[in-house]
Amino acid sequence: MTGQHDTETPGRFGRFGGRYVAATLLNALEELEAAFYEAKEDPAFGEEFHAILRDYAGRPSPLYFAERLSEEVGTRVYLKREDLSHTGAHKINNTIGQGLLARRMGKRRIIAETGAGQHGVATATVAARLGLPCRVFMGTEDVRRQRLNVYRMKLLGAEVVPVEGLQGTLKDACDEAMRYWMGNYEDTLYIFGSVAGPHPYPTMVRDFQRVIGDEAREQILAAEGRLPDRLVACVGGGSNAIGLFYSFMQDPEVAFIGVEAAGHGIDTGLHSASICAGSYGVLDGTASLILQDEDGQVLPVHSVAAGLDYPGVGPEHAWMHETGRASYASVTDEQALQAFRTLARLEGIIPALESAHAVAQVIKMAGELREDEIVIINISGRGDKDCEEVERLSGEGA
Ligand SMILES: *Cc1c(COP(=O)(O)O)cnc(C)c1O
Repeated sequence: MTGQHDTETPGRFGRFGGRYVAATLLNALEELEAAFYEAKEDPAFGEEFHAILRDYAGRPSPLYFAERLSEEVGTRVYLKREDLSHTGAHKINNTIGQGLLARRMGKRRIIAETGAGQHGVATATVAARLGLPCRVFMGTEDVRRQRLNVYRMKLLGAEVVPVEGLQGTLKDACDEAMRYWMGNYEDTLYIFGSVAGPHPYPTMVRDFQRVIGDEAREQILAAEGRLPDRLVACVGGGSNAIGLFYSFMQDPEVAFIGVEAAGHGIDTGLHSASICAGSYGVLDGTASLILQDEDGQVLPVHSVAAGLDYPGVGPEHAWMHETGRASYASVTDEQALQAFRTLARLEGIIPALESAHAVAQVIKMAGELREDEIVIINISGRGDKDCEEVERLSGEGA
């Protein structure tokens, strides 16, 4: 089946999506939804969004033919260079979009949740750019692990609020941000970081990220005169992946491959592969595939890539999995670490560990790829943030 989206009810993707939240939050979400659809119809909003993406975030990002990686895997591989975007990843596209929406709605403050701190930094950046005060909720454990990003957010003028919660990680930060928003939505917008969460976030974040695929489509047609055969992207919540995929939704000949984090291996239970190993449930206000035990308790997750460490996934991915429009694979920490080094050595590009999962998947598929195929890998972010951790894990410096 190919791309029929936003099935009759907006925000529904088959049995996934929707809005599972307290009544007070419904008001906030309905207001946001109305503002989003109105902005979408306003050419002036789109013009300002794209002007800031161009002049401030550095778009369009290049589509780069990776000659040596192509030789290595025996097919034609292009890299979509989101790693070159301002703040080092695709996340800035979404925070610029939601930031502009906050201003348009007359909101005077911004809040966000963050896990590894990448979304927090991208939100704090946009808040500074727009002159809006910003508060970022972050689990206490993450605050400890991600000191540099905490410092970045503070430098950018944001207030970082540590959240104790159950594990002191992303899930707790999300809960607290939602709770805070419920009491403050009249003057505050909650900038959510991926294509998960209650409607309108999955649709809205996708629409802000689709610039990746819109550009890639034009770029590959200019370079090769035809559409690509496969698109490959890592999937945490799923925003960089759907950002690349969406513009090709109506082209069934273009295969989509989402790559989840298998961590230490799916059978060890220490992973974050919500599609490959999850089941139907509700998390952070949306119905999707999630990692949970028999009692519906959300399971602890693991990935060497902090940005993939989420026990759920965007509902549209769950739906594309169910309809077969996209396929989903998983890559272990070890394979991702190897691909991290391989891309550095072959192309002089150090990818984020998240993006290294997508690279690893293409290396794994080398045997089944034809020489004349065109594969686009989304390099969702750059790996500077990960170098210290990779050095620590490898123990020998390289
Ligand atoms: C946050 C992040 C991801 C995962 O988020 P998605 O919503 O799945 O894109 C992937 N890559 C990088 C570099 C990130 O910072």
